[in-house]
Amino acid sequence: LAVPDFAALAADVDGLHEELCAERGGAVADYIPQLAEVDPELFAIGVCSVDGQRHLVGDAHEPFCVQSVSKTVNYCLALDENGLWGTHEHVGWEPSGRSFNELALNPQGRPHNPMINAGAIMSASLIRPESSAADRFGHVAETWQRLAAGRRVGFSNSTYLSERDTADRNFALAYSMREQEAFPEGTDLQRTLEFYFQCCSIELDADMLAIVAASFANGGVCPLTGERVFSVDTVQHCLSLMTSCGMYDYSGEFAFSIGLPAKSGVSGALMIVIPQVMGICVWSPRLDEHGNCVRGVEFCRRFAQRYNVHPHDGS
Ligand code: GLN
Repeated sequence: LAVPDFAALAADVDGLHEELCAERGGAVADYIPQLAEVDPELFAIGVCSVDGQRHLVGDAHEPFCVQSVSKTVNYCLALDENGLWGTHEHVGWEPSGRSFNELALNPQGRPHNPMINAGAIMSASLIRPESSAADRFGHVAETWQRLAAGRRVGFSNSTYLSERDTADRNFALAYSMREQEAFPEGTDLQRTLEFYFQCCSIELDADMLAIVAASFANGGVCPLTGERVFSVDTVQHCLSLMTSCGMYDYSGEFAFSIGLPAKSGVSGALMIVIPQVMGICVWSPRLDEHGNCVRGVEFCRRFAQRYNVHPHDGS
């Protein structure tokens, strides 16, 4: 068994959920107007092992937008379609050390990495650029669905419209990349950005995101269906970049103290991967100053103290 005493783990997760309900620090993201309306008290944790043992606590069936967690799936799809070099001709792999939407490119005029906005807009441009908007979105939604064992993903049209109408920064990033000729030839900026916003507005619940995380932990095979969604190499590349860049400009400290690949989103979603063991989703809308889920980061800290999950833990 991947987790020998799953009942004990589940009890620990419940205990952490209860402890962390008292944590009310941080604030709900409000730069996307629709996100500001979410109840800040919502809080769910989902766990799914690579052999399909699952546990849920809290608001685990309440839908939320994946937001930046979509950067993981889009990067994998870009890799599958364009190969490693075909992708990284357009996007770097170094942490930026800046906030997720900082107006900055690397010295080659490329986005620093696929886990920040500029890089994720680039990943979007690399996914089926010749197809219609409908097919491209359908392809991404279907991929999430396969990662989540066939469960149907939702879409928040109001979040999408709200983001599209307040997206000056993301447009600025896209124009600055176009100025540097960073995009593949023929890229249409408006269509690319709309596609990127749509991907951010895909909705899952904590139950589903934990299964997605477990598919990543399981080398790209969904543990509940046995279906391979991404190749082993694609998943390895994505997990590497999640480890170095997945928590915005807190990624260095997170890698130092927790050491696990993780990806956060401004909806308060956090996907954590323990390779070969399990996937975890924590969702709670209040964010810290970096844009990471406050309860999620604290969960990781306490969880890592209890279990020796850091890959460099010698004990
Ligand atoms: N859709 C959001 C944006 O582009 C995603 C950012 C995030 O989750 N950090 O600003």
